[in-house]
Amino acid sequence: MKGILESTSHGLYCVPGDFHIDPHLPVKRAVVTHAHSDHARWGCDRYLATQSCEALLRLRMSPDAEFRFLPYGETLTVNGVRISFHPAGHILGSAQIRLEYGGHVVLITGDYKLGSDPTCTSWEPIRCHSMISESTFGLPIYR
Ligand SMILES: [Zn+2]
Repeated sequence: MKGILESTSHGLYCVPGDFHIDPHLPVKRAVVTHAHSDHARWGCDRYLATQSCEALLRLRMSPDAEFRFLPYGETLTVNGVRISFHPAGHILGSAQIRLEYGGHVVLITGDYKLGSDPTCTSWEPIRCHSMISESTFGLPIYR
C-alpha cells in the first residue's frame, strides 16, 4: 500500500492522513464506511461519513462527538490524503472509501452488495491501484 495504510490494534490506520477507517476501538479521527455497529464504533472524537449516513450515525454515536458528512463523490483532503466516498449498495449511507495519496489510489470497500436495493444507492465500481475488500464470510468459522 506504499505506506498509506497500516493494520493497528485499533484497526486500519491511514498513516499520512492520521485517521482510522472503521476502527475497532475509540480513536481521535474515524472515517467510517457505514453506521452498522461493527464498522461505526462508539467513543471516537470525530467521525467522517457520507451525508446519507448522517441520521443513523447521529442516533448511534455520542452527541459530544464531532461529525462531518460528505456527499458521494465529493473530495476532502486531510494531510495530503484525498478522501472520497462512493456507493456500496449495502445499507442507507454505506460507502466504499477511496483514498488517494502520492498518485496511489486505495479503495476500502466496507460491506457492499452488488445487487439492486431500493433502500440505498447502488454499488459503483471505482478504479484503484489497491483494493481492500470486506470479507466477513471469509472467516474460518464460516467454512
Ligand atoms: Zn454492514
